[in-house]
Amino acid sequence: MAEKCNDFHCPVHGSLHFRGRSFTGTVLSTKMQKTAIVQWESRGLLPKFERYEKRKSKVKAHNPACLGVKKGDIVEIKECRPLSKTKHFIIIKKIGEDILFEEKQELLEAGKTRSKKKESKEEVAKEESEENESD
Ligand SMILES: [Zn+2]
Repeated sequence: MAEKCNDFHCPVHGSLHFRGRSFTGTVLSTKMQKTAIVQWESRGLLPKFERYEKRKSKVKAHNPACLGVKKGDIVEIKECRPLSKTKHFIIIKKIGEDILFEEKQELLEAGKTRSKKKESKEEVAKEESEENESD
């Protein structure tokens, strides 16, 4: 994207050494400077029940300016040396876009607000019943 990339940690223009694991995940947020939050799902076996459980992993990853990664993108990340206190992954490349990302986020938000409304209704009901008792 950019003609010049001065990012020392850039996978293309920088000189960072990668080692460790690599994952493919969806970008949840790019609000932090040069950092993105990447989430991916995996399956883990529960031996006792002989079933699989869905696991979600969320990490912070370095977001090089020249890749131009946005919220909702599917990216490949690789582990590297710690870049900050909580950041030890780097976005290597953009694979594609999650078309359903915004819909999923909206559903999540709707779920949150719905549960909040329920709580407030219950509170109101409680208050009402208390009033009735005093009468
Ligand atoms: Zn670069």
